[in-house]
Amino acid sequence: MKIWIARPMTAAVEARARAEFADVEIRETNAVLTEEEMLRALADYDIVVPTLGDRFTADIFAKADAPRCKLLANFGVGYNHIDVDAARAAGVDVTNTPGAVTDATADIAMTLILMSARRAGEGERLVRAGGWEGWHPTQMLGLHATGKTVGIVGMGRIGQAIARRCHFGFGMDVQYIARSDKSLDFPAERAADLLALAGAVDFLVVAVPGGAETLHLINGDVLAAMKPTAHLINIARGEVVEEAALIAALQSGSIAGAGLDVYEFEPKVPQALIDMEHVTLLPHLGTATEEVRSDMGNMALDNVAAFVAGAELPNRV
Ligand code: NAP
Repeated sequence: MKIWIARPMTAAVEARARAEFADVEIRETNAVLTEEEMLRALADYDIVVPTLGDRFTADIFAKADAPRCKLLANFGVGYNHIDVDAARAAGVDVTNTPGAVTDATADIAMTLILMSARRAGEGERLVRAGGWEGWHPTQMLGLHATGKTVGIVGMGRIGQAIARRCHFGFGMDVQYIARSDKSLDFPAERAADLLALAGAVDFLVVAVPGGAETLHLINGDVLAAMKPTAHLINIARGEVVEEAALIAALQSGSIAGAGLDVYEFEPKVPQALIDMEHVTLLPHLGTATEEVRSDMGNMALDNVAAFVAGAELPNRV
């Protein structure tokens, strides 16, 4: 079977792929796949390991006609860049890497909560610019995070890991919305709806998958419902938050700050966000550790191996 891995991987994952599979090619660039590359991938390989940004749309599957490729073993839990229905209709299975990413992404959410509340990015820029004139009782006052209320939008694996950290680590009250009620190992209240949640919390943390169902879920109405002292944190997918509405809310002071790991038109970050001191901007670091990227790669290869062996796919989406 011919296997194509669409990005360079950690040394451990590349070594396993080469040792375990006879015919594997690893693409040498980090650029997202072009349409031409996606069509070649579907036509020339049995299994492809794509990732974030590789937009396998319905149009691509229509153009691919009867693809040789039978599995897209996505590297990453989020697969909103793949039209799964169109893939299935073309006879292509899709798998992802759930669980491997959970703790690291929750850690980045905590980084953003604390950086946004405590003005850490702004403070760091002040020190680096040589502008710090010394400690005084009213210098750079932020929001005290301990004991506040966090609102989790999407109480799945990552949402729960964030909530646990907030509850056990920071004594926060937890509220949430999800599509279904949850049985949780920590106290949490399910809010009536998103607007009620937004109005009740000090940190609104977005942890839903991307895709048509959640596009602009966080819009002007939701931002307007938030307290002026509250912070929006997004570690999910950029397009879940209507970026123009977020910029307006931050510029008008209707919310106190935002901590972002993802962007609507990633990797493009609007100058308006860059210009505001009360916004913390990270370059999609959610899972960016050697261990976690190796775990993700191994999970993708486990799916490849199962497919090669004709076994049940462990992480079919
Ligand atoms: P998950 O376990 O599937 O959790 C998703 C949660 O969102 C579920 O609780 C689900 O509710 C809820 N949900 C889905 N659609 C909703 C809607 N329309 N309204 C309200 N709630 C909704 O997924 P996960 O593993 O936690 O990952 C979540 C997302 O994080 C991924 O899809 C990915 O896009 C993103 N992510 C980002 C990074 C990063 O680097 N920043 C890293 C990893 C993942 P139900 O449980 O009721 O279905």
